[in-house]
Amino acid sequence: MTIADRLGAIRERIEGAAKRAGRPAGDIELIAVSKFQPIGSIEAAFGAGQRAFGENRVQEAEEKALALAALRQRGLTIDLIGNLQSNKVRKAVASVSRIQSIDSAELGERVARAATDVGIVMPILVQADLAGEDTKHGVPESELFETLERLARASGIRVAGLMLLPPLFENPDDARPYFRRLRLHRDEAVKGGLLKPGADLSMGMSHDFEVAIEEGATIVRVGTAIFGERPRT
Ligand SMILES: *Cc1c(COP(=O)(O)O)cnc(C)c1O
Repeated sequence: MTIADRLGAIRERIEGAAKRAGRPAGDIELIAVSKFQPIGSIEAAFGAGQRAFGENRVQEAEEKALALAALRQRGLTIDLIGNLQSNKVRKAVASVSRIQSIDSAELGERVARAATDVGIVMPILVQADLAGEDTKHGVPESELFETLERLARASGIRVAGLMLLPPLFENPDDARPYFRRLRLHRDEAVKGGLLKPGADLSMGMSHDFEVAIEEGATIVRVGTAIFGERPRT
């Protein structure tokens, strides 16, 4: 199967999951996670109509943004979905279209200052840690609302929603309670005026994106199911 074939299959599965959930498939944005994948694979996906890509390291996002400058002119975008260190914030702001992995109020405010300095507003998502895993990044559940409150006051960023990287389960259904909980937090935050109605829920990867869509995902981040196994990690 080519990348175009696999993309087509993923789009069909997204439509199927949306239908089951009684949602329009157009409400779900597919991010093709291209970390560790060569430029040629990104070009192939672009050729098959894919526009939004995800990278988890700033250095790699920056290199790919440069290599793909011509395709960016034609609509290609890169989301940062991995851990962002504070000393790389300026590089990230220069290279990506959205940052999904904001894991503290301080980091969000740093992004806001860097974006303001270059005269842009950076869309961000706040990554939530709902499992209390110290190995993972994300705002602890107990601090989620105060973080959203602080970031709602910052200019230079637009808080577009929440992102989740749940524990890895063999059975994708086991992730469902986490997806559901992120949606409940989103709904609460909307009620509290901290997020806009319909704010984004970025959740679901290759093995569990259909379950995530059934639970309300508006952004799914799919890597290996599109590009195959990563050459190196
Ligand atoms: C790598 C990665 C993905 C995609 O994972 P696959 O299992 O390859 O689909 C999604 N989200 C984040 C944050 C990632 O780092």
